[in-house]
Amino acid sequence: MASEHLLLIAAPPESATLQNRLSLETIGCRLTICPNRTEAEEIIANDPPKLILLSDQIGEPDVFQTIRDLSRSYPLIPIVFVPARQPPELAAAIDAGISGYIPPSARSSEIQARLRAALERRRQLTAHASEEVRSLQQRITDLETIGRFGRKIVASLDLEGVLTAVVDAAVELSEAEEGNLLLPDETTGELLIFASRNFEEDFVRTFRLPIQDSLAGTVFQTGKPILLDEKSPRKIKTDYLVHTLIYMPITVKGRVIGVLGVDNRQSDKPFGETQVRFLAALANYAAIALENAQLFAHTEAERSKLETILTKSENGVVVVDFDGRLILVNHKAREAFGIHETHLTGKRASDLIQNQDLLEVLRDEDLVSATRIELTLNDGCVMNTQITPIPNLGLVVIMQDITHLKELDRIKTEFVNTVSHDLRSPLTAILGYTELIERVGSLTEQQQEFIRRVQQSVHTITSLINDLLDLGRIESGFDARKEILPFNSILEYAVDNLKTKAAEKSQNLIVDVTSDLPHVLGNPIRLRQLVANLLVNAIKYTQKNGEIYVQASAEAGQIILRIADNGPGIPAADQPHIFDKFYRASNVPEDLAGIGLGLAIAKSIVENHQGRTWVESTPGEGTVFTVVLPSTDLRL
Ligand code: ADP
Repeated sequence: MASEHLLLIAAPPESATLQNRLSLETIGCRLTICPNRTEAEEIIANDPPKLILLSDQIGEPDVFQTIRDLSRSYPLIPIVFVPARQPPELAAAIDAGISGYIPPSARSSEIQARLRAALERRRQLTAHASEEVRSLQQRITDLETIGRFGRKIVASLDLEGVLTAVVDAAVELSEAEEGNLLLPDETTGELLIFASRNFEEDFVRTFRLPIQDSLAGTVFQTGKPILLDEKSPRKIKTDYLVHTLIYMPITVKGRVIGVLGVDNRQSDKPFGETQVRFLAALANYAAIALENAQLFAHTEAERSKLETILTKSENGVVVVDFDGRLILVNHKAREAFGIHETHLTGKRASDLIQNQDLLEVLRDEDLVSATRIELTLNDGCVMNTQITPIPNLGLVVIMQDITHLKELDRIKTEFVNTVSHDLRSPLTAILGYTELIERVGSLTEQQQEFIRRVQQSVHTITSLINDLLDLGRIESGFDARKEILPFNSILEYAVDNLKTKAAEKSQNLIVDVTSDLPHVLGNPIRLRQLVANLLVNAIKYTQKNGEIYVQASAEAGQIILRIADNGPGIPAADQPHIFDKFYRASNVPEDLAGIGLGLAIAKSIVENHQGRTWVESTPGEGTVFTVVLPSTDLRL
């Protein structure tokens, strides 16, 4: 026996007695002696002994506690108990963890035999433990390898590379001769080799495996792995013979999408449980890679579709986040704002877009619903612009070039103005002559009635022409002359003029106006026209005995005018259009005169005075028109 190191824990004089009794030199062991656990631990740390011999005569009060502590700290070092006297509690020592016992009466030959046996047991234990450690080590290495592949797969979107890596790993981990990954051909349904290791290129190219009557096909159909471990080679496809093989299904959400296989053609080395486990783990990775690739391809296709739509769109598109940083600017929007920089993402919109009207809307933190503005660009182009807030994204700006429509509108207005103007003189002549007819001779009652109708029609046409000319004038800004006006008098004038009309329909006209309304800077004729148009409508559309309510008040530098009625109301679908020229709501009775210009004129007048107007209406209940005009502190 080589000089094995043994440690004896015993306090003097027992230690000397024991040293003599043990006479270890004869079995080729060297002995270190120490009196207590603390010193023993130091020795073990520096020179681990093969065996601990522990006396009951030690520098510790509880020898069993010492046994327990040592056997817990050093489970691989056997402890042989060598008490000075027959111990009353041998069972307690065994419970505490001793692995051998030398009775006080033992002779030296017996002692040596017991020590040899203890050392032998220890050798076996160590050998077994190192085998366990080796296999654990191997499993850790295998797990690390699998983990490495996992990381590679998660990080990579190169499907071919990943699947080839999976096959390589399968071959290496299972120590197989070759491996392949089979996926079905979408048209024929046959299994083809998508990735392989140690197969010839020609073989891979021409390999076709029918789903029916093939091992891989069975795995593909049943979703169950096959472990082929026969002594005689088996034909799994003409001219393709294997001794041992594993086919593992690749499954995504319960659906088999492919098969991972390894095999041995030369050797008949069998595959075992471990290899099956490896292949199962790798097949999972292959499944993740295939699913990732599919999802990525799908997302990529959708993204590029969307990108093409956005970039090729003839509408300008700008997307900014809620901090005003650009997320997307398509080519049309770049053109519109003269942006030449290429990398825009993350830059501030205000650094690159000069249009103040747009920036103002983008800065508006209260913007909760889509809003529309007309943007005039530096080159004169006019953009119909919709700004839509999208939760968790930001603001989407879509701009449509309406320059040509604006130009058409201008030409049309000009034409209407010219024609209207030219029509006025002949109409005045017609009216004049109809009045003269009565003077040149007597007329029958019927002739008088006809002339009355002609005059009425001429009046209607004249008022239409006047409206058109008014609108043209207001829109073109010819009414620029403005005065400081007490708003009370504007209201009084309009209300007084229309009182009789309301009375004719027995309507209750309630005027609720503060007597000290502020002044406005405006055109008196137009402002009276504005109030009159709204009041005329209220009277015209509200039934007999209905109620009309005129209310005006001042608030934070503004005058707020409300003209409400309890008439028929305006259908919701018509409300967005009623300020358009020539638009009449769908519920207007056919015989009720009107051409749909009154509100267009009213809106133009309000805008010309830097105000706002809108309608709120519930069909069957009534309508409220609100006008907000800026007031002035200036006095006449
Ligand atoms: P017009 O009265 O000549 O039709 P307007 O431009 O003044 O033209 O009004 C446009 C349309 O708005 C009207 O045809 C009518 O349908 C609707 N409207 C305006 N005021 C009222 C109101 N007070 N009550 C109900 N409908 C109204």
